[in-house]
Amino acid sequence: MSINFSGDGPEEVLTTATFQPEDVTEASLRPKRLEDYTGQEKAKENLAVFIQAAKIRNEPLDHVLLHGPPGLGKTTLAGVIANEMGVNMRITSGPAIEKPGDLVALLTNLQENDILFLDEIHRLNRSVEEILYPAMEDYAIDIILGKGPSANSIRLDLPHFTLIGATTRSGQLSAPLRDRFGVVLRLELYSTEDLRRIVERSAGILGVEIEPDGAVEIASRSRGTPRIANRMLRRVRDFAQVKGSGVITRDIANEALLRLEVDQAGLDNVDRRMLRSIIELYNGGPVGLEALAATINEEAVTLEDVYEPFLLQQGFLTRTLRGRCVTQKAYEHLGIEYLGQQRLDNM
Ligand code: ADP
Repeated sequence: MSINFSGDGPEEVLTTATFQPEDVTEASLRPKRLEDYTGQEKAKENLAVFIQAAKIRNEPLDHVLLHGPPGLGKTTLAGVIANEMGVNMRITSGPAIEKPGDLVALLTNLQENDILFLDEIHRLNRSVEEILYPAMEDYAIDIILGKGPSANSIRLDLPHFTLIGATTRSGQLSAPLRDRFGVVLRLELYSTEDLRRIVERSAGILGVEIEPDGAVEIASRSRGTPRIANRMLRRVRDFAQVKGSGVITRDIANEALLRLEVDQAGLDNVDRRMLRSIIELYNGGPVGLEALAATINEEAVTLEDVYEPFLLQQGFLTRTLRGRCVTQKAYEHLGIEYLGQQRLDNM
């Protein structure tokens, strides 16, 4: 068996929250019921009420929009909702639906009360989106037959279904689409305590022995994101098997993560590069997102969706009208002297 602990692979892979090929085993770690879905208490409480009410009325659940950074459990939650409602779920995504006809085919194949999960809903093209409006509102679609003055429109009834849309960027959704969701839930980054529970549950499913301190170590370094926590768990497990007794202790977790270049605050190379560039090239900011992205050779959307939420939450970065600024905490973390406001005033 050859395992690379040198951390010299693509550096973002360990801590990027977006789905990576190594996450294919994720399905086995996905909670199926609401009670196993850790954290997100506010969203869960609301959902539990809506689910119960829909079941009592024997109606489909209202359309649900889930938004928040990648890897926080939007797909998982949609699956949980389908299980709790006892219905089937079809999964698709905005970019996968190229033409209106693709969506019509999906919709007409649904059964009564089924769930259609539409990931990256902000990437639907406009002509497809327009089919969704009457489908969501009236469970019907209008199909135009023929062209020009002789064109005819016929209305096709659809089964009563629930659309669950997921997006990392709710701001990019058009108002008419957003308005058609009865339930809008924002998923938040997870606390270390919630992530510890997720790591321990996943370790149980994977059959790995883990000490409570080991779980906390992984949890506190996974940028508030279950997908990253599970990925780190798998890497640390490999390390524990090769370098230790197979049990994940705090020391083993710490050593493995340091080798993978995730520091004690849970920051990876890209985070550090981002903070360092703002300090060294822009005197701590403010700097616009596009300029920063160009400087460190990353996509602006990746910085905004994947990296910033955690840096903002942890207080390493602030967002002002004029751009991004690093905080004193970031200087201290990187071991760079903080000269405060003078630094800017003296320029
Ligand atoms: P998203 O759709 O938001 O990108 P996913 O639903 O694919 O995220 O979640 C990624 C992984 O994280 C899942 O495989 C699941 O194992 C884990 N996960 C997400 N949310 C939770 C949660 N609340 N409790 C336990 N595990 C979770």
